[in-house]
Amino acid sequence: MSFQKQTNLLCLLQTKFGFNSFRPHQEKVCATLIEGKDVLLVMPTGAGKSLCYQLPGLARGRTTLVISPLLALIEDQVEKLKRIGLATERIHSGRKREESYHASQQYMSGGLDFLFIAPERLSVPSFMEMLKKKLPTLIAIDEAHCISQWGHDFRPDYRLLGERLIELRPCPMIALTATATPLVQNDIVQQLGLKEEMRSIHGFRRENIAIHVIELSLADRPLLALKILKQIGNLPAIIYTSTRKMAETFFNELKSYFKTGIYHAGMNPLEREENQQQFLSGKLDLIVATVAFGMGIDKPDIRTVLHAALPGSIEGYYQEIGRAGRDGKASQAILLQSFADHRTHQFFFEKDYPALPILKKIFLNLSEEKKPKELLKEWSNPTCLPEENEIFEKALEKLWIHRGATIDPEENVSRGPAESNTNWEKTYTNQRKHREHQLQQMIDFTQSSRCRMLSLVKHFGDQNDSGVACGTCDLCLPEGTQSFHKMRSLTQKEQKWVAQIMAILASCHYRAAGRLYEEIAGGNDLPRKNFEALLKSLFQFKWIHILDETFQKEGKTINYRKITLAPLGRNANATELAKLQLIDLVGMSSGAKNTKKSTSPPRRPPPSSERINALKLWRLSEAKKRGVPAFRILTDKVLITLCAELPTNESSLLKVKGMGPKLSKLYGNDLLKVLRGL
Ligand code: ADP
Ligand code: MG
Repeated sequence: MSFQKQTNLLCLLQTKFGFNSFRPHQEKVCATLIEGKDVLLVMPTGAGKSLCYQLPGLARGRTTLVISPLLALIEDQVEKLKRIGLATERIHSGRKREESYHASQQYMSGGLDFLFIAPERLSVPSFMEMLKKKLPTLIAIDEAHCISQWGHDFRPDYRLLGERLIELRPCPMIALTATATPLVQNDIVQQLGLKEEMRSIHGFRRENIAIHVIELSLADRPLLALKILKQIGNLPAIIYTSTRKMAETFFNELKSYFKTGIYHAGMNPLEREENQQQFLSGKLDLIVATVAFGMGIDKPDIRTVLHAALPGSIEGYYQEIGRAGRDGKASQAILLQSFADHRTHQFFFEKDYPALPILKKIFLNLSEEKKPKELLKEWSNPTCLPEENEIFEKALEKLWIHRGATIDPEENVSRGPAESNTNWEKTYTNQRKHREHQLQQMIDFTQSSRCRMLSLVKHFGDQNDSGVACGTCDLCLPEGTQSFHKMRSLTQKEQKWVAQIMAILASCHYRAAGRLYEEIAGGNDLPRKNFEALLKSLFQFKWIHILDETFQKEGKTINYRKITLAPLGRNANATELAKLQLIDLVGMSSGAKNTKKSTSPPRRPPPSSERINALKLWRLSEAKKRGVPAFRILTDKVLITLCAELPTNESSLLKVKGMGPKLSKLYGNDLLKVLRGL
């Protein structure tokens, strides 16, 4: 780039946008577009991608056409550009006819710097005619991952985008996204017909986010969340849950400890918006939300993003944790998950992506002639079971998305365009497999033994990453998880179990986790939870590998974990066994008896004896009130079990052995209060 051009770009940046200097990669992308070449730009949210089309658009003169699939983001961008004095308009389904007409007129008169549209607009023939009369100077496709066939909300119109855009050339084109794996990157390039494009894929490493992945049963998660967030410096925080119900559970558990808000799609929009605003402005310290929360959120000081369940894809997970620490200060991303989450995902997957034969059955009932949807539904589901109806609706939607069916506004259905009669099967199967693969990648991420940040950076195919381990995640620095984990040596009994595990693994290629447990626990008193803690520890100390595998049985896919010996484990001897540390969750140390040698974490929870004493005090006062012996209120055995299992709500309280509904009704609230107070 010549010196003259370089100073011109900088001058535009300063005068039009009011920024002093370019951020990394912006200048190169701008220069490439100004020269007339295409660009695929993949950088995380907040990196400053918009400027990469706005500035070259202005530099080239005339109007830049911006295509964005999300109406809310269009409105947001338009407002920002108008505010800095740039002539900007938008045309989309959310606007009145006169408004769109006025915007078109402005475009035709050449008075606009930017025109924003939703992708569907290009399917309107008169709109295409207008654009062809006056070609744009640059085309930008924002949130371009949405238009990939692998995207979740892929719509039939998007497939035609490439064809339509050819007619608007020869101007350069840029596709922007924060979340595209190399597979999706290729798809975007192909679908949009980008030519000899420059690919700029950068900036995925976040130096200031320490990632921790913790295996934990569902029932224990709210309590650990509470413990983590109570530690100084961990607020403001977002808790992401996988369902509305889970959001409500966490909200109810935590609202009395922190200024907490809730956000999910089932809420009244005004209330939801209000909660979001209060969190952004600092009036709330914590927001419990489903993934619906966070689009376009730019709050710099979020210290913790906690996932209360396993996300469905690494792309989504990365976007969500990326909201932590925008101010560059140390922050953390904590993921709580367990094997049970895999099953939940599988359940939702079967609902969201019905099996191919279900779609085929509907397709065979379709013809050129339009049929009412309700009639089709009766044919497909004569029993009218509500679950089946739900699956029918989903299957028909997928058939429509993949163009096997055409549906008119009155919901009359006919066969899709001829060329897609067999093609829909292929594209649907691909998308279904892709979704399944995304989930598997997420599972692999939790079970991997490679630095967490490095795994993420590699996932996105970042071009210039240093490739070094982050040094702060739970795998780089197991001791760093001390604020959530307590380390202790193994008891004699545990050492014996570990020796048995190692001996079995040394004698075979692998063992399924379930079988290994049976072999070890047969006749022993080793609860499954404690066995899992041992496995986790062996994995973190790199003595074993754990792989998620499947096999087919009677037509069903069965998941299991395959355990094999790692080189370190193969060479381990008795001395090393004695040195092995068990990573024990704070306050979850039900199996821990030998806590003497624990390295003390910065904020230790009260030892169990304190908890027991507190409960005993409460029991005594209750017994006095009622004039009965203490054991008539609660036996020692139940009391100790309560301290070990630490129930956090009514339902987990009921699960504690010895706590029947009667006891729970009488003392439940008091007990939970005493247990929480510690
Ligand atoms: P992205 O689309 O990558 O998520 P945006 O384009 O919305 O990010 O930019 C994020 C923020 O960074 C915006 O507030 C924007 O004004 C700001 N920004 C972009 N480029 C620069 C720059 N060169 N200097 C300072 N701030 C910038
Ligand atoms: Mg953006």
